Amino acid sequence: MPTETVYGLAASAMNETAVSSIFALKGRPQDNPLIVHVDSLPMARSLAELDDKAEKLADKFWPGPLTMVLKSRGVVPAGVTAGLHTVGIRMPDCDGTLALISASGVPLAAPSANKSGSPSPTSAAHVARDFGDELLILDAGECGIGVESTVVDMTREIPVILRPGAVTQEMLADCIGKVDCAQAFAPMEEGQPAAPGMKYRHYAPAAKVTVGEGEAASVAEAIKYLYDKELKKGEKPLVMAAREHKRFYGRRDVAVTGSEDDLREAARSLYGLLRGADADGFTSILYEAVPKVGIGFAVMNRVYKSAAYNIVRV
Ligand code: AMP
Ligand code: MG
Repeated sequence: MPTETVYGLAASAMNETAVSSIFALKGRPQDNPLIVHVDSLPMARSLAELDDKAEKLADKFWPGPLTMVLKSRGVVPAGVTAGLHTVGIRMPDCDGTLALISASGVPLAAPSANKSGSPSPTSAAHVARDFGDELLILDAGECGIGVESTVVDMTREIPVILRPGAVTQEMLADCIGKVDCAQAFAPMEEGQPAAPGMKYRHYAPAAKVTVGEGEAASVAEAIKYLYDKELKKGEKPLVMAAREHKRFYGRRDVAVTGSEDDLREAARSLYGLLRGADADGFTSILYEAVPKVGIGFAVMNRVYKSAAYNIVRV
């Protein structure tokens, strides 16, 4: 099913067998809980306890790209919540999908509709590439936001963002007061090298991803150096850069992530570009970091993971 964030692989959240087929199809670890999609506040309230803060956030951001982790009423089966006493709930901002939930008469559990570990799908074609004709795909064109929902744990004294998204920490704090953000960039901020075995590699294309970060002209110099080195080694490199920086790269292959002035474009383009690079046979992606402001924070959270924290700072 389409949503405003990414496409979801949906099944009745109330049907254990259907839910377990989601995990099987995706190759998803059983201990990673699924988000439950609802079409209304009463449906959300029937599944979980919404306190005052949760009600305020629902009122302000639903339907929209915000998932709240709430105390479960025990109605949703353990397969959905990975046995937790909490359940992640959101109301997607997509009319067709809200109609689908209403027509189903049940909440729909849905993770992103990609094979586990690969970039999330932001078009029906992306879903078809991962699953072929295994699935019925509802095609609503390209996703407007392009990165997964913000996940906020509402069961703590001070709510904590577990995954950044289009609804930012500032937007949440404006609505309900203090909100923390858990370890969105932990592995690099602690100065640790990427874990062996690519422990942190998610959202990842087959191509190796390197992030260039710093002042724009210096980043371009570093990326050009890496590009030319990789080309000599027989790799097929691709630069991913802001439209305004394309000229820095001369005749090298460049895919535009978006405009410097509108980071929503970088969010919308991200997964399609990563998937497109693989489809076009590129073996190395050199990604110009975007500023970690607004939705740029969520973009860089995903880019770092797809790069397994392989970052060049200049
Ligand atoms: P995905 O379905 O791929 O968008 O991933 C769903 C995200 O929501 C994962 O990061 C989950 O860990 C998180 N999530 C869903 N339900 C819960 C929950 N009850 N507690 C904590 N995190 C959750
Ligand atoms: Mg996912």
